[in-house]
Amino acid sequence: MGALTRRTLTTSLMVAALAGCTDGSGSAPGSGSDAGGASDSTAAPAAGGAAPDPAAKLATATRQADQFDYDAALDTVDGVDGKDAEDLRTRCHEEKDALVPWPEDEPVSHLFFHSLIVDPSRAFDGDDKEQGYDDYMCTIPEFTAVIERMHEDGYVLISPHDLAEPAEDGTMRPRELLLPEGRTPLVLSQDDVSYYEYMDGDGFAADLHLDADGAVRSRYVDADGTEHEGAYDMAPLLDDYLAANPGFSYRGRKGIIALTGYNGILGYRSSPREYGEDPDALSAARDAAAEVAGALTDSGWEIASHTWGHIDMGEKPLEKVDVDLQRWDEEVGTLVGDTDLLIYPFGADIAGPEQYEEGDVRYRRLRDHGFSYFFTVDGSTLAWQQRHGEYLRQARMNIDGIRLRATAAGEEHVLDPVLDAGAILDPARPGL
Ligand SMILES: [Zn+2]
Repeated sequence: MGALTRRTLTTSLMVAALAGCTDGSGSAPGSGSDAGGASDSTAAPAAGGAAPDPAAKLATATRQADQFDYDAALDTVDGVDGKDAEDLRTRCHEEKDALVPWPEDEPVSHLFFHSLIVDPSRAFDGDDKEQGYDDYMCTIPEFTAVIERMHEDGYVLISPHDLAEPAEDGTMRPRELLLPEGRTPLVLSQDDVSYYEYMDGDGFAADLHLDADGAVRSRYVDADGTEHEGAYDMAPLLDDYLAANPGFSYRGRKGIIALTGYNGILGYRSSPREYGEDPDALSAARDAAAEVAGALTDSGWEIASHTWGHIDMGEKPLEKVDVDLQRWDEEVGTLVGDTDLLIYPFGADIAGPEQYEEGDVRYRRLRDHGFSYFFTVDGSTLAWQQRHGEYLRQARMNIDGIRLRATAAGEEHVLDPVLDAGAILDPARPGL
């Protein structure tokens, strides 16, 4: 991580500049860190609130087995008679016996994206934001190609909470992560899922919301002003992919959504500080944001703090860090719940690759605020991870135009083993 690349740092700085950043964070461990992961442990209830019928139990148990949670599957199918149930029980026992532990503290790759470009002709329209979008964003076909390739190569989505968890004395302890032979864990995250004001009209989704069936979808307003509801960003795209490919997820895990607060969250102008002049609109925005956040976390997504004001946690004066942490709690934490995940804006860590020191004043501040999992950025390695004292830290790899272009041009080789960047690069990008 010594090469905590200047490029990467610049990357995030640009995004922040685009975002018009002004000058907060979760608390208390435990967000999404339930021991069993995110998989449903109960079958879908039948109409009228009656007990699930055997077919529903069987469907739920099959999905749990597909996602390597064999104990849950066996529980779900307990008491169900018939050959299908018997076959599933046999399968669970056989596959469970064949699981192998991911080696303790073996670094796990962590890829991240920003909001996805729905309409390249609007993002790349020659205005002063085009370069930033080309550098730091991916298009929907690029994201989909990356996901398909990682899945084909045997990667399985997990949460950092599956790698380690705080013991009672606060010490971060490894957790046993069991996967079939040949599978490799992978963490996915998406930064700045705010649908910032500056992106309006540039070919991105406008929000995440719940459709009539309660599923998370996005709203997209096209160049003609027509509204569409569908999968126009990472969360609904991955939800759809996992519905068809449940085995890409370990026990229902999906990804981490990193939120700032100054433009609100998830497409809702939910910041009282910034949008308080219309109390009714603010209240409606906050209710809607909380509902979507709840649906996301109920379905396997996790939420991280990305600070309220997208601030540099390594450089900002401590008193400003305190203000920001409190602001995130008040404006975002009240909508999404506590989080123990901190994704550093700009990839700007509070230290280099050396271990955090217990007595370091910035580290203490963040720990005391409830963060136990820290995420920086490093484009020079496919996986970097550090468990020490009371924390787990990972470096993340940015998947964006800069990375894909450099890899496709042969200037960088870190991604070569996992992605064919030349094939993935969207020809709709400028100059391609
Ligand atoms: Zn950011």
